[in-house]
Amino acid sequence: MRQPLLIARGLRKRFAVRGGLFGRTLAHVHAVDGVSFSIAKGETLGVVGESGCGKSTLARLLMRLVEPDAGELIFDGDAVGERTGLTLRELRKNVQMVFQDSSASLNPRMSVAESIAYGMRVHGATRDAARQTAHTLLEQVGLRAALFAARYPHELSGGQKQRVNIARALALNPRLLILDESVSALDKSVEAQVLMLLRALKAHLNLTYLFISHDLHVVRYVSDRVLVMYLGEIVEIGPADDVYRNPGHPYTRALFGCQLDTDPRRRIAEAPLAGDPPNPVDPPPGCRFHPRCLYAEHVCTTRAPSLGEALAAPLHAVACHMHDAASAHTRAGDPPTGTPHAFRVDGDASEAHRPPDLLRS
Ligand code: SF4
Repeated sequence: MRQPLLIARGLRKRFAVRGGLFGRTLAHVHAVDGVSFSIAKGETLGVVGESGCGKSTLARLLMRLVEPDAGELIFDGDAVGERTGLTLRELRKNVQMVFQDSSASLNPRMSVAESIAYGMRVHGATRDAARQTAHTLLEQVGLRAALFAARYPHELSGGQKQRVNIARALALNPRLLILDESVSALDKSVEAQVLMLLRALKAHLNLTYLFISHDLHVVRYVSDRVLVMYLGEIVEIGPADDVYRNPGHPYTRALFGCQLDTDPRRRIAEAPLAGDPPNPVDPPPGCRFHPRCLYAEHVCTTRAPSLGEALAAPLHAVACHMHDAASAHTRAGDPPTGTPHAFRVDGDASEAHRPPDLLRS
C-alpha cells in the first residue's frame, strides 16, 4: 500500500454572510464540513459533485488559500502550520494549483517565460536560472520555447494558455498538483491533448494529482480513486472502478445516472436527481441528502450517517444508513444495487430522441 502524501482531518470552513447597515454577520455558509481523507503518493484522486458542493473550497483549503475554521493537514508526515512542522511557504512550494480560467491565471503584462519564471524568482532563483528552467518547462508541456517564450497571453489559444499554467505550476517542483476544473473550459480535442499531457507529466515527474471536475467521464479516465461530495461533506470515497461500477450512496447513483450515454437505447427520460441542493446556510439535519433521497426514513432525518474510516486509502466507504448494518434503517445492510433508479429508454433511437413527455404517454 502506498504511503499517504497528504492527510486532511476534520477540515471545516464556514463563510460569513454579512448584511444590514453595519455589515453584521447574519448567517454562515457551510462550505466544507468536517472533511477527512488522504491522498496516496503517486495517485490521482478525483473529486466530483454538483456545483456548490464545496469542491473548490476544499481545494483552496488544501493549499491554505483560505484558512480552515477547524481541522488539520499533514503533508508527507509533517503537520502544516507556522508553529508546527511545515510552514505555509514550504507547503505552497510542494502543492501547486491549476485553475479553470486559463486567461485570468496569467498576467497580461508578462510574457509567457516571465510568468513561468516568476514563482522561481520569488523563491530566490537567479534571473538566468529561472529563465532557463522556464524554457525547459515550456518544452515539457509541448510548447517550443523558441516560439512561445516571448509571447503574451493574448497571443495564445485556450489550450496553449492552460499548458503555460501547467508549466508555471511545475516551476517549483511540486509533489502535489491540484487541478480545479483545469480542462473544463477547453474544446474536447484540446481537452484530450491536455489530459494526455497531464498523464505523461505525472509519470515523468512522479506527481500526485487531486483532480476536480464536474465531467464524470473525465474523472473516471484519470482517477485511481474518487471522492464524491454533497453539501460540504464526503458521501462516498473509493477506488474509481469500484465506485463507478457499484456506486453505493443514493446521491452517487443518481449523479452517475445523469451521465449521457452514447447508446440511444440507454438514454434516460427522467432526471435521476430532482430538485436543487438545500441551502448551505441551513443544511438539513441528519443526512443532508434526505430531502432528495428516495430511500429516506425517519432515522435519516435525525442522525447523520458516518463515512467510517475513510482515511484508509483502499477502502470503499459510503456515508449512508443503508450501509450500516447497525442503523435503524429498514434496508440497513441491504442497500439497493445495480443501475440508478432512473427510467431508461429501451426503444429504438428515434423514440429515444423524443421529448420525455411523449415517451411517457
Ligand atoms: Fe438516503 Fe438515508 Fe442513506 Fe441519506 S442516509 S442517503 S437519506 S437512505
